[in-house]
Amino acid sequence: MRRSGMPDDNGAVVVVVCSTHLNVSVSIDVRQATNKVQNMGLLSEGSPLSWEETKALADHVREHGVNQFINLYHRLKDRQGDILKWGDEVEYIIVKFDDEQKVARVALRAQDLLAQLNEKELADPKGVKSLWRPEYGAYMIEGTPGKPFGGLMAHFNLVEANMRYRREEVTELLAKDECVMSITNFPRLGASNFTHPLAQPRPEDPLSSARSLYFPDEAIFPGHPRFKTLTRNIRKRRGEKVSIKLKVFKDTKTKLPVEGAPPGEPDVVLLDAMGFGMGCCCLQLTFQACNITEARRLYDQLAPLCPIMLALTAASPIYRGYLTESDCRWNVISSSVDCRTEEERGLAPLDKQKFRIAKSRYDSIDSYLSPEGAKYNDVPLTYDEKVYQRLVEGGIDHLLAQHVAHLFIRDTVSLFSEKVHQNDNEDTDHFENIQSTNWQTMRFKPPPPNSSIGWRVEFRPCEAQISDFENAAIVCFVVLLTRVILSYQLNFLTPISKVDENMQTAQKRDACRKEKFWFRKSSKTTEQRAAKAQAQAQAQTNGKATFNGNGLANGNGSENGDQEEQQQPLTNGSAKMNGHGNTNGTTNGTTNGTNGSSNGSSNGADSDHTDTDDEENELFQLLSINEIFNGKPNVFPGLVPLIRSYLQSMEVDTDTHCTIEQYLRFIQKRAAGELITTATWMREQVLSHPDYKQDSVVSERINYDLLKRIQGIQEGKQVEPALLGQGYHSKTKTKDFIPPALQKQLAKNGCCEEK
Ligand code: ADP
Ligand code: MG
Ligand code: MG
Repeated sequence: MRRSGMPDDNGAVVVVVCSTHLNVSVSIDVRQATNKVQNMGLLSEGSPLSWEETKALADHVREHGVNQFINLYHRLKDRQGDILKWGDEVEYIIVKFDDEQKVARVALRAQDLLAQLNEKELADPKGVKSLWRPEYGAYMIEGTPGKPFGGLMAHFNLVEANMRYRREEVTELLAKDECVMSITNFPRLGASNFTHPLAQPRPEDPLSSARSLYFPDEAIFPGHPRFKTLTRNIRKRRGEKVSIKLKVFKDTKTKLPVEGAPPGEPDVVLLDAMGFGMGCCCLQLTFQACNITEARRLYDQLAPLCPIMLALTAASPIYRGYLTESDCRWNVISSSVDCRTEEERGLAPLDKQKFRIAKSRYDSIDSYLSPEGAKYNDVPLTYDEKVYQRLVEGGIDHLLAQHVAHLFIRDTVSLFSEKVHQNDNEDTDHFENIQSTNWQTMRFKPPPPNSSIGWRVEFRPCEAQISDFENAAIVCFVVLLTRVILSYQLNFLTPISKVDENMQTAQKRDACRKEKFWFRKSSKTTEQRAAKAQAQAQAQTNGKATFNGNGLANGNGSENGDQEEQQQPLTNGSAKMNGHGNTNGTTNGTTNGTNGSSNGSSNGADSDHTDTDDEENELFQLLSINEIFNGKPNVFPGLVPLIRSYLQSMEVDTDTHCTIEQYLRFIQKRAAGELITTATWMREQVLSHPDYKQDSVVSERINYDLLKRIQGIQEGKQVEPALLGQGYHSKTKTKDFIPPALQKQLAKNGCCEEK
């Protein structure tokens, strides 16, 4: 993040911090000394240009953004040896309960809460345990750990405690009848009177940003002009309001047409504002790679897992007070910022615009970045040939050049007057402007200028879960998976067209239990590597007592006993998480030169790609979520068994092991359908509610009771066996610090915690 501080006209310091979900820079007005602000690394912004002015500068932003990327790339392409750092971002909704009327509303309090939450950060920027940022909704906030976690196994034991701390920190500032909730969508968002204080939409008012029939401008975060500016500019660029269509879940008494349904589409719940998507919460994580090659590789390897994780974390079946056929927010948020014109969407002949564009700027990725991935780039990539050529002439290789050129088909939709003229050798704002408004499943993040931060990858598909336990489980699982991918050189690459198909499948009702997903079969070479790794691991783990032999060690338990045969313990013996497996160090032609495009076979590390075309066709099979996570004999060992096997080669302290084991068991059970997704659970809550009239409507009372129950779950007071198993859900040994005894031991072993 680039950051600095500058006083505004009133002498107040307007500081800008990066927000997550939107990934745009936003400012908070704080009256603090400039030096403090600079320490915090916050950045001044300014006044948004009108849409007409912004539109006129689209090519300017593009041209300079591309130049800035080229310069940035050459400054940082050879950066090596960054250690694993990682962190989560959880978004929350503030809910206000009216216990007399039995009504729950979103509380438009984010600005006021953030002012208080940010005070601590300003006073002690390095010492805080959490960081708080605004989000799109005036009822939303986003929390991250105060500093990223690092490469020690013990860090996995800190995540849940940190998430719990964040929740408590906000709760302390709330009134008794308010609650901070990590729910993906507020079920009655956009239904009548859903805000507190009450606000009404103004669809006819030309000054309204959204002009929505349902979502009032007051529900958009008021603390920074960017959110309303984006709302207005996306609508203006498109030439009409956004149009989000969801099929209603048809019950026996569902009234058709649904209120507000578009003509000829009686079973559609129509949403007409950016807030319906960007006002949803999600769970994201970012991790740092050792160098650009590793970042490109992880970007690619995780991309096929995005729809899989989306299905596993599905948590949003209700929109505008209706049960729908969708379990996830993804298509909603994608349509909610779809600024493509009719021409670009293929509804009118191309005249004013340059291209047809297949997807919204919020969608799954369109191309792989590593040479191994190149041959799976099977969907046509739209980009401006001139922009691509400029990048190639600037020394960017084909795969990265086409990625950036593709990002740059989008126009800027938010530009601030102070940011128009920049020094392309130092600044990166124009690049960031376009990069940060391409909201894709994965994000490839170059290091910010003048910072100690390395090349990073962000994993963005997951829905926010109700409890800290679930959110921590998901985050730790994905980070562990990155270690396994690197250590075992796993290969999940799947043609982009199949990943796209999986994205749609993932959102279907109960996809986690009912649907099948394209998934790459593990090949002979993987099996061979696995066997080799196993042998190495066994040799190395002799004498390591911390993980094995504590009674929890091989805690695969009964639930995956039948997988043990095909569970290949694929360890490579790399005992530290920063080891980055065998992929470290060498760059293999992707990052330099202009023609590293499709020489997939040049990277001997991933010899799966030497398979013949015949075998290639059989590489992709339709697997259930259960099979992907828990394994299918002779097809795939399963993600969880792979992680377990990796863990066997690691030194893990007992508490951390216990915690990770809880997470893995939870994920295994959810994948197996033994536990249900949040989305399925919410549906069941509605369908079994005494007030439910078989008409797909989630009434105020049902909404209230559902949210009250969620409050009980997150506080550990409500037991929901179908969702989290018997008893209170979190039996982990999570702690908010690494115990001194363990730190001592780690120091002795040469594993000092990163400062
Ligand atoms: P975004 O651009 O998505 O808003 P942020 O910059 O806010 O992302 O950070 C997202 C996450 O990245 C946070 O959890 C933070 O702790 C973590 N993080 C911060 N520095 C690093 C780093 N050097 N490497 C990896 N993750 C980091
Ligand atoms: Mg983010
Ligand atoms: Mg963020």
